[in-house]
Amino acid sequence: MNRDNPIPWPKLTIFTARRIVTMDDSLPEATAVAVSEGRIVAVGDPESMAPWREGREVTLDERFADKVLLPGLIDNHVHPFLGAVLLPTEIIAPEPWRMPDGSICPAANSPEEFRARLEARLAARPDREDWFISWGYQPSEHGRWFREELDALCPDRPVILWQRSFHETYLNSKAIGKLGLDPEELAAHPQIDLDRGHFYETGNKKVTAALMPYFMRPQWYHKGLESLATLMHQGGITTAADMLFGSMDPDFELAAIDTVIEKPNRPVRIVNIADARGFANRAIGKRVMGPPDECPPFEQGLPAIEALPERATPRVTFARAVKLFADGAMFSQLMQMRAPGYMDGHHGEWLMAPAVVAEGVRTFWRQDYGIHIHVNGDAGMDAVLAAVEAAQREMPRFDHRFVVHHVGFHSNAQSRRLAALGVHASVNPFYIHALADSYAAWGLGPERASQIVRAGSMVRNGMRVSFHSDFPMAPTEPLFLAWCAASRRSRSGRVVSPEERLSLEQALRGVTIDAAFALRMDDEIGSIVAGKRADFTVLEDDPFELGAERLREVRVSGTVIDGEVHLLAAPMASLHAAGDAQSALPRPIVRTGLFSRLAGALGTARAAARDGGRRSSAARYRPVAACCGEAAGDHCAFARELAQQARRWFEAGRSVRSADRARETGLSSAPGPAA
Ligand SMILES: [Zn+2]
Ligand SMILES: [Zn+2]
Repeated sequence: MNRDNPIPWPKLTIFTARRIVTMDDSLPEATAVAVSEGRIVAVGDPESMAPWREGREVTLDERFADKVLLPGLIDNHVHPFLGAVLLPTEIIAPEPWRMPDGSICPAANSPEEFRARLEARLAARPDREDWFISWGYQPSEHGRWFREELDALCPDRPVILWQRSFHETYLNSKAIGKLGLDPEELAAHPQIDLDRGHFYETGNKKVTAALMPYFMRPQWYHKGLESLATLMHQGGITTAADMLFGSMDPDFELAAIDTVIEKPNRPVRIVNIADARGFANRAIGKRVMGPPDECPPFEQGLPAIEALPERATPRVTFARAVKLFADGAMFSQLMQMRAPGYMDGHHGEWLMAPAVVAEGVRTFWRQDYGIHIHVNGDAGMDAVLAAVEAAQREMPRFDHRFVVHHVGFHSNAQSRRLAALGVHASVNPFYIHALADSYAAWGLGPERASQIVRAGSMVRNGMRVSFHSDFPMAPTEPLFLAWCAASRRSRSGRVVSPEERLSLEQALRGVTIDAAFALRMDDEIGSIVAGKRADFTVLEDDPFELGAERLREVRVSGTVIDGEVHLLAAPMASLHAAGDAQSALPRPIVRTGLFSRLAGALGTARAAARDGGRRSSAARYRPVAACCGEAAGDHCAFARELAQQARRWFEAGRSVRSADRARETGLSSAPGPAA
């Protein structure tokens, strides 16, 4: 030790804890961790730190002495754009939501509850000229709230109820007027019921497009992002991945994220993964996403994706990776299923047809990119496997970190193929909890429904499995997600397919080191090891004392990111920690309105199947725009859809500043998107 070194040693902080779970196999447990300049210097016990103390200014920080440290938790698939739009609305939904201030927006499960909440929230927002937008309306639970009822409740201010599925809105007369659209055009629109103030599918796009300048105002969009960042902090997250960056407008998205994330006291890091189709379409000036079997010019999107890392800041970075899509959404049962298919004979959808998946994979594989692909059904998985196998044959790659996302249902044979190809998974284990009961009776049947998100067999086959929220699909609570995978408890409390449960340690890997692995950041974050970033999640309770079954009850006290301590005002357990979380859970979308129409379409498909006719590719590759039920329940897809509208608005040459002006002049004179 050279004490005469003219360069002073950097300061050292030694944190002690009741237990430090490092998630590193070589030294799984510790009681002290030394940190300097945002990095971990040493892990062990306080005595083992002695050589590091020599000649340094040392702070012994014992505020975690009775707490447990985990590596900073990671959610490797969220949608900040959706959070930004959604979170500032008044949330009145069939399930409770936690708000950034720690309060709970309780569930409204009856028309009476809905009315009471609506009245209370209207009263709480006194500006009668401003839009009142509530998200979470579910007609099957909340009763009839059409134009007439909304006018009776609130005749003199613009009110919009945004349906829980995101795909329909109900407006009162004042709101319809404030849209500033031609009344005759609205009356003639096939997917607008003007008398009821009901806008659906392409009709609803008129509403969201008109609102886009309003949503993009900093006071809305930034507020929403701030809320999301706070919710992530409450869930113990230190790193999150935006799994569809650039779907709308990379400059706008980045400017907003920078503003919100790159500031003092904001303890979260964002890693952006580029939307391959969005960048491709933008490169050729294409404004609307084509049908699923239309291949975007992926290659042409590459230069803009390649240029992104130059724009990285300390807390907002870019992975050398892209996002692709395969089949439809799990929540709306539009994943592509192999035989025996769906019990009622309907069929799934493609968001990208197999040939497009193959081309997308091939393009980015050859460029040595990481590839993340949304896939839900076993037939969807076949398309993905075929694409990876073809890419491997053409250009063998090792350690490519190809990651399948969501993975609603797949077979053991597919797990073996995935493992052989070196593919890993980031799954949404919330599906197990939310869907296993209802899908046993509807669509899949008991056997397949119990095997939703087959994480255990993937791990047995040697894959790394991590968990994501796909926020706002599930709450930004990694420990709750880990509980879903470890317990496999359905909403009714049954353990489904217990063989697929994960051990507590394996479940924690899914929100720490294996989540980092999926992002190719496991040399930087995900475990508590000398040299890595000093990111910790501070827990009030020890997960190993409570056990896997009670993981969702573990309380988060705060986080440490790059060595900075950010404690919550009070420790918080998951919103779903209460014993009976029944009402706390999103339920499958009820077949009302849109779904009765969808059911009609499915009936037609069944009749065609009975006729023995082969379905044409046009029927199988129904574009998202033709039936917005496709995207319902899947937020990757919804983010894309909403982003398209925003993109059109941007491409019409509008700026955020003009949105600010729009606020002063009222939306009716605000710049609208090209029709
Ligand atoms: Zn997503
Ligand atoms: Zn998705």
